[in-house]
Amino acid sequence: MTEELKALSARAEEAIADKLKKIDETALINTEKVLSAFKNNRVSATHFVSSDGYGYDDRGREVIDSLYAEIFGTEAALVRHSIANGTHALAIGLFGLLRPSDILYSVTGDVYDTLQNVTNKKNGEGSLPDYGVTFEKCELIEEKGDIRIDFDALGKALKEKKNIKVVYVQRSRGYTGRRTLSADEVNEVADFVHARCDAYVFVDNCYGEFAEEKEPNRADILAGSLIKNPGGGLADCGGYFAGTKKAIELVSYRLTVPGIGGEVGATIGQNRNIIRGLFMAPHTVAQAIKTAAFAASLFTLLGYKTSPLPTEPHRDIIETIELGTAEALCAFCRGIQAGSPIDAFVSPEPWEMPGYDDPVIMAAGTFVGGSSIELSADGPLRAPYRVYLQGALTYESGKVGILTAAEHVLETKKS
Ligand SMILES: *Cc1c(COP(=O)(O)O)cnc(C)c1O
Repeated sequence: MTEELKALSARAEEAIADKLKKIDETALINTEKVLSAFKNNRVSATHFVSSDGYGYDDRGREVIDSLYAEIFGTEAALVRHSIANGTHALAIGLFGLLRPSDILYSVTGDVYDTLQNVTNKKNGEGSLPDYGVTFEKCELIEEKGDIRIDFDALGKALKEKKNIKVVYVQRSRGYTGRRTLSADEVNEVADFVHARCDAYVFVDNCYGEFAEEKEPNRADILAGSLIKNPGGGLADCGGYFAGTKKAIELVSYRLTVPGIGGEVGATIGQNRNIIRGLFMAPHTVAQAIKTAAFAASLFTLLGYKTSPLPTEPHRDIIETIELGTAEALCAFCRGIQAGSPIDAFVSPEPWEMPGYDDPVIMAAGTFVGGSSIELSADGPLRAPYRVYLQGALTYESGKVGILTAAEHVLETKKS
């Protein structure tokens, strides 16, 4: 690393000193919450015992559900290694709650890209519209340089359409340019809906877990992936739901079958990593958010536009940087890859990913395939050549990754 970059790195870190402290404070509060739940649930080594077959009376599985419920502040939870990814969890949840002729109403515009195959139109693949469920939405309102939920539109929709069964909120930004909603803002939607009708409030909670001192627990269902925040970098795979008893029960009937729900499911050796990952999660999320804040600070000093800004709150683990050219975007991703523990020797190339209009470049040198609580970066090759950056199991390795990415980007400016 050049002396110049070293000096810049020190300045970048200095500029966010207060913020780094605040992130550690949040991690401490969340760790206290996790430890207290472990104690209350009498977690012991017997919970690591593996089950096979039907998995009846798997005490580890039961205690994991109970831990998630207590930590997320909900009545019940359902956590399974057998949920393939976040999209799968969200789809199970929606199919569990929605019935033919119901409306799914999103207050955060379109749902996450991969979920649109499930929600948006008849495709003959068994989408929600194939079963007679309609998707409707209102957009977030942009005002005074910020965003807010369009409560007028939501109130009007709830009044006019009695068959809105699920009101949907995406907490994190996903692949959009908007900021992430706070847990309070999501809870406000829940209170608003519950004061007016029986609709369930459903939250895509991906990337938000443990970023704040609370979760949006007044919703009926929160769903997410274990290879993101709550798996703490140690869960091998899986997904979770936390929410009301009633909603969790309905979702459990979709996860397996009506009448059986969450009473079965072999855990085939996964309990220890899920429990240990949950223990680590507040700390790991803090490492990822520190890395995001450092990236924001460094690339702001280098003259790039970042979101959140270094001083803005990070309500999830994502940072975006507008790199301006395809060359700089690819260089950044190659740098992240070169600064990763796994596959540091490979060089990522842009490719035509199914479902995307432009080629996408991705960097991920992770212990768990595709895990994005580990340092990873990706972005579509189109203006403003924005990279989406997330994760890092340790702040130190995250910093090395970001600095390596900066070196690669600066290299493109020389030539
Ligand atoms: C990651 C993510 C998902 C789910 O993605 P998977 O790749 O299927 O795990 C859904 N919504 C948001 C906002 C996400 O960030």
